[in-house]
Amino acid sequence: MKVLKQFIDGEWIVSTTNETRKIINPFNQEVIAEVTEGNDTDAKKAIKAAREAFDEGEWATTSAVERGKLVRNIATLIERDKEELARLESLDTGKTVDESRDDMDGIADVFHYYADLAGKDAGEMIASPIPDTISKVVREPVGVCAQITPWNYPLLQASWKLAPALVAGNTLVMKPSEITPLTTIKVFELIEEAGIPAGVANLVLGPGRSVGAELSESKEVDLISFTGGLETGRKIMQSASINMKKIALELGGKNPNVIFADADFETAVDQALNGVYFHAGQICSAGTRLIIEESIHDEFVEALVKRVKNIKLGSGFDEDTEMGPLISAEHLEKVTEYVENGLKEGATLAVGGGKPKDPELQNGFFYLPTVLTDCSTGMDVVQNEGFGPVITVEKFSTEEEAIHLANDSIYGLSGGVWSQDIAKAERVAAKLRMGTVWINDFNIFFAQAPWGGYKQSGIGHELGVQGLEEYTETKHVYHNINPQPIHWFGMK
Ligand code: NAD
Repeated sequence: MKVLKQFIDGEWIVSTTNETRKIINPFNQEVIAEVTEGNDTDAKKAIKAAREAFDEGEWATTSAVERGKLVRNIATLIERDKEELARLESLDTGKTVDESRDDMDGIADVFHYYADLAGKDAGEMIASPIPDTISKVVREPVGVCAQITPWNYPLLQASWKLAPALVAGNTLVMKPSEITPLTTIKVFELIEEAGIPAGVANLVLGPGRSVGAELSESKEVDLISFTGGLETGRKIMQSASINMKKIALELGGKNPNVIFADADFETAVDQALNGVYFHAGQICSAGTRLIIEESIHDEFVEALVKRVKNIKLGSGFDEDTEMGPLISAEHLEKVTEYVENGLKEGATLAVGGGKPKDPELQNGFFYLPTVLTDCSTGMDVVQNEGFGPVITVEKFSTEEEAIHLANDSIYGLSGGVWSQDIAKAERVAAKLRMGTVWINDFNIFFAQAPWGGYKQSGIGHELGVQGLEEYTETKHVYHNINPQPIHWFGMK
């Protein structure tokens, strides 16, 4: 099997130790690829290449319009290779090919969007209070950016970081999750084909404890953008303080989905399912905390359970499959324990719980879509992320109670409100302490709107104009066009 390589300073190279890692298909545990296993020395090499490309190369001073053209090339190449990328993503993550195709459309949109923004920000003139002076604010690239991504949406998360960093004139080193690096490797081939100069975008493969740690600690890195779990985010924040790197952290979520009795019942049930079961619930924004008005609770749960029983598990390549496996044996273990603990805490199993019995699924890391009722905010199963196909259900009787329950979390990533009373829906949305609130919808993302967490769900934003601003420094340039001595010192 050909060993897939890292991309450093415009060259495809193996790691300094020559070690490799096997990449596993979570549907059947077959080896689908072998990749070079990078380490801290490789990370140092990549950082050096990015540093030199930023400090001595022409990328940062190339016109933003020109950079935008090259970023647009990447979008076009992703569109050209969409089917290949989608199939590779499904092979690596286990999600259905339809989901991966959707991801690829969104990814191409992100590159197009930031290519559109290139050169649009011409800075700002300031009304200087001092006569005969010109005062202006300009945006400049931050420098060398380290970008670390998780395994759940490998290429989507990578695109949210790559496109704005490049358009803004930064150089970068990306480290994908060691479990799912395949589409990121492929996109670096497209980055090379698109004409991005050598050293500007570098890719290092390998584990977080060596490659990731080096990227977070290095004094040669100016910014770190991380998407992943809360505990890793904490470590990165600490390491980043070594040289006061700028940080952008997109962390976990435990997202409430509040259903009022006056919601459109059928749509709310349908979207409660969509809110959770895509990619087997391994979504930071999954609406895993259903908070239902008491008067419709039983009827809603009944309708939900009926649909959940019909969810078809299988290979992501099978047209009928609605839900694939979890990512790994270790993660399957974690989700199993998470549900068992919930049951011990007093939750009731309404459907699912455990591994499916179907013989053809026994080699995959499958977990049944699950609904737990009789839950309350004090339970770990309601507070902890879980990151699997598991919904917890709580009840409320007043609007105030619904808001209180929804906000009772260390996380503040996203949430939903379902009601046909527009004023009520807006009132509740305004009170929710989270970075994204969907009214009468769930899990909607697009390049134009910012994404980021309140509370312990993160710091900073991706997507939208805000996602580009993260990759810029703000400089005030003050110009005195009539300089005169002011005779302050040594004149008395
Ligand atoms: P993780 O934190 O285990 O790993 C994420 C990345 O960090 C991987 O590339 C990993 O190798 C690296 N890493 C691990 N230890 C490191 C260290 N000490 N220093 C530097 N890097 C290190 O997360 P995961 O399990 O891959 O992903 C799932 C998590 O990601 C969930 O918590 C999910 O909510 C979160 N997530 C958040 C968003 C968002 O937009 N907020 C999006 C997707 C996923």
